[in-house]
Amino acid sequence: MTSHRHTATDLIHGGISRTPHGETSEAIFLTSGFVYDSAEQAEATFAGTVTHYQYSRFGNPTTAALEQRLAVLEGAEACRATATGMAAVHGALLSHLKTGDRLVASRALFGSCHWIVSTLLPRYGIEIEFVDAPDLEAWRRAFSRPAQMVLLETPSNPMLEIVDLRAVCDLAHQAGALVVMDNVFATPLLQKPLEYGCDIVVYSATKHIDGQGRVLGGAVLGRAKWVEETLQPFLRNTGPTLSPFNAWVLLKGLETLSVRVEAATARAGAIADMLGGHPGVRRVWYPARADHPQHELAMRQMSAGGTLVTFEVPGGRDGAFRVLNALRLIAISNNLGDARSLVTHPATTTHMRIGPEERARLGITDGVIRLSVGLEDVRDLQADLAQALEAASRTRAAA
Ligand SMILES: *Cc1c(COP(=O)(O)O)cnc(C)c1O
Repeated sequence: MTSHRHTATDLIHGGISRTPHGETSEAIFLTSGFVYDSAEQAEATFAGTVTHYQYSRFGNPTTAALEQRLAVLEGAEACRATATGMAAVHGALLSHLKTGDRLVASRALFGSCHWIVSTLLPRYGIEIEFVDAPDLEAWRRAFSRPAQMVLLETPSNPMLEIVDLRAVCDLAHQAGALVVMDNVFATPLLQKPLEYGCDIVVYSATKHIDGQGRVLGGAVLGRAKWVEETLQPFLRNTGPTLSPFNAWVLLKGLETLSVRVEAATARAGAIADMLGGHPGVRRVWYPARADHPQHELAMRQMSAGGTLVTFEVPGGRDGAFRVLNALRLIAISNNLGDARSLVTHPATTTHMRIGPEERARLGITDGVIRLSVGLEDVRDLQADLAQALEAASRTRAAA
C-alpha cells in the first residue's frame, strides 16, 4: 500500500472507515461476532462471495483500521494485528516453518524470541543456527546451505548491535530464505526494513506504538499473498487475536507516534552525550554517536538514533544497582518505549535466563544499564542521572 501523503498525516488518517454516524474518532466495535440479514448472506460470506465480518477471532472493523494504518506506515501490502509482540513473532515463524526446515537468527534477540528459536523450534524438528549480528562472514557461512527463514533484530536489545540489513537480506534470499525483522527498537518511523529487502516486519505494539504503558499488542506486516495464504490461516485457527478495545488504544497511540518518537529521540541523543562525558560512566552505546562501533552502518539504515541508550558503570552488579536505586524520577522496569523513562539491569532481569556465558558473548556485563528515554523534560532526566551517578560513586568511594 503506497501513499502520497506524509507519515504524520497517515498516522492520523490511515485506515479510517467511518460509520454512518460520522464519528470523529474511530468507533470501537467491541463485539465477538456479527449477524447476517439472511441464511443466504451467511452462506455467501462463508463461501467468500461477499465480504462481511464473521467473527472477531479472524476479523474486526476496529482491528482492521489499525492493520490498515500500520500497513500504510510501513509501506507494506498487508498487516495482521496480534494480541502481543510475541504472538506476532510466533505467528510469523510457525505459520511458515515446518519439520526439516532451517532458520538462521541473530544471536542478540529479545529474551522470548531467543526462547522460541533455541527451545521451541528444535522441538518441531526445525534446525536453528545463531549468528553474531555484526559478523558478515558468519552470515555468509550460515547461508552457504539452504534456509527457509531468518529472524533479525537491529538495533539489538540491550547492546544496540546493528545487522547490515541489505547485505544479510541478499545472502538470505540467495539461500532461499524469507527475512523476518523485529523492528521494535528502531520503531516504524526510524527504520524501514522492507526498503532493505526484508520480507516480513514484526512489532511489539506494546512498546512505542502504544507508548503509554496501557496495552499489549503486536503486528506482522508483509506481502499480501504471504499474509493471506500463510499467516492468516494460522492466526485464524490458533487465535492469538488482538482485542478490538486494544486495537482502538493502539490507533490512538499511532496518532501521536511521530511527535513522541521524535521528542524521545532528541532527549536520548542529549542524554547519551551527557553520559558519554560523565566520569561515573565507563562506556555509552548509542547508534547516532560517532563512537558506536557500527555508527556508519547504523546511520545508513536508520534515520536517527532512537529512544534507547545503553551504558556501563564501574563496579559490576553492585555499581549498577547503586545507580538504579539512587534514581528518583526514572523508574526501574523491564518495559521500554514508554512516555516514562525506564531503566533496566539486563544481566539480572531480561537477560538473566540466557546465562553468564551467553551474556559474555553478547557483551552484557554486570555493569550494563539499559535506559529507555521517555518524554519528561530532558533537564530533569539529566539531573536525575547525574545525581544517581554521583551518589553511586560516593558509596563506591566509601566502601
Ligand atoms: C517487547 C518485545 C517483544 C515482545 O513483545 P510483547 O508485546 O511483550 O509480547 C519482542 N521483540 C522485542 C524487540 C521487544 O522489545
